[in-house]
Amino acid sequence: MSYPRILHHGAVTGVTGSCHQLQMDAEHGLLIDCGLFQGAEVSPEGGAGADKLAIDFSLEGIKALVATHVHIDHVGRIPYLLASGFKGPILCSEPSAKLLPIVLEDAFKLGFSRDQQQVERYLRLLEQRIIALPYDRWFTLADSAQLKAALRLQRAGHILGSAYVEVDLTYKQAGASKRIVFSGDLGAPHSPLLPAPKAPERADILVIESTYGDRLHEDRQTRRQRLEQVIEQALTNKGSVLIPAFSIGRTQELLYELEEILHDHPGLPGRGVAAAKMRPDGSPESETIDWHNLPVILDSPLASRFTQVYRELEPFWDIEALTRVREGRKPLSFANLLTVDAHQAHLAMVRRLAETAQPAIVIAAGGMCAGGRIVDYLKAMLHDPRHDVLFVGYQAQGTPGRAIQTHGANGGYVLLDGERYNVGAKIRTIGGYSAHADQQGLVDFVTQMREWPSEIRIVHGDADAKIALAEHYRAQYRQANRHVEVKIPVARDKPRPQSGSQK
Ligand SMILES: [Zn+2]
Repeated sequence: MSYPRILHHGAVTGVTGSCHQLQMDAEHGLLIDCGLFQGAEVSPEGGAGADKLAIDFSLEGIKALVATHVHIDHVGRIPYLLASGFKGPILCSEPSAKLLPIVLEDAFKLGFSRDQQQVERYLRLLEQRIIALPYDRWFTLADSAQLKAALRLQRAGHILGSAYVEVDLTYKQAGASKRIVFSGDLGAPHSPLLPAPKAPERADILVIESTYGDRLHEDRQTRRQRLEQVIEQALTNKGSVLIPAFSIGRTQELLYELEEILHDHPGLPGRGVAAAKMRPDGSPESETIDWHNLPVILDSPLASRFTQVYRELEPFWDIEALTRVREGRKPLSFANLLTVDAHQAHLAMVRRLAETAQPAIVIAAGGMCAGGRIVDYLKAMLHDPRHDVLFVGYQAQGTPGRAIQTHGANGGYVLLDGERYNVGAKIRTIGGYSAHADQQGLVDFVTQMREWPSEIRIVHGDADAKIALAEHYRAQYRQANRHVEVKIPVARDKPRPQSGSQK
């Protein structure tokens, strides 16, 4: 049998459950990500959802796990991996090492136990296993008589701490070497806060995501302008703008852009209050938005914790963000930003905004309105035409978010916790908040390499996206008169467990 071999344990039929195995030789295996299956992928062909949580592959010879970033579809099965007896280290970038325990504490509480002692024991175990790797530095995985293996993380620009993984394998006896690159999730260029990913210098084999393999994003400037317009429209009729938000990455991007919008509007301290439209008595005109006093309310304890860590990890921000810091601005802790932590405070905030319809921007978890604090806001405010709901993320089929988005505009209703709520609020959607590279970004990742890979394996995408991306790669290679084998791996054949041979 020849090595290296790559097995895909997830993110092959869809975009979730990322888990790939690099079998370097007979004795040395490496896992790249160990994510949870989510959404429609939880209820697969005839199987129960719980099957998808189990680690259904052999851990023999797996020496380490490397986590490309802390999104739950890339790390969410780590608690199950540990429970299955995985003894190796968990390698990740330095920022990920700070974010990972927060994510996995949450995953543990949801999947295993809320018992505080157990949670703490588990977190201690986890922290012993995590090895934080600086970007751009080689780490030796194995050095035996036959094999030398090392890996290096590079910035992927997707969320803070995200990385793509370069693995160098040297087969000493054969005198052969291979470089394999796993893209993880790649970010879009010009995404706020994070430097754009740079293509690797080279690869023999590339395993690449394809979430937006068949689409191009609108550029960031357009997105920022649309956010500003939408908020302006929403606030002129008084009332709040409710933004259901995902915890990691997107919330911080939104805050960053909101700070930018607030900063660009006259009336902020240091920018001259006189520039705002004023009545003779000095109060703002009624139709003018009082940006200066507009609260931006972050109502999600988890998102607040992530935002806190994002602030602490300032050295990993991009140049634009750091320039703002040097100018005395606080992109993630600006004066208008108010975080709501305790549940009582949350309920009080919902009551206050529902009663007063005071202009405010509320960012509350969860992203698809299927749970989390956003649901309380919706129950109290969705009927009221003074308010607006602004979607910045994908709303999956069957979620309340999707129902509000599709039926909300024409007097529709939504079921929240089994009860019917009429939609009176205005419903708005802004695209372009994906933290993923689009087709151009995915193509550039390959064509900007000095040496292009001879094998590309496309994972982490819907069938259409993968096929479109594969076509683009083939065309690029044809044009450059180079050879490539583009593969779209299918789900691994699982040996059906014999009855009674349960592990
Ligand atoms: Zn991700």
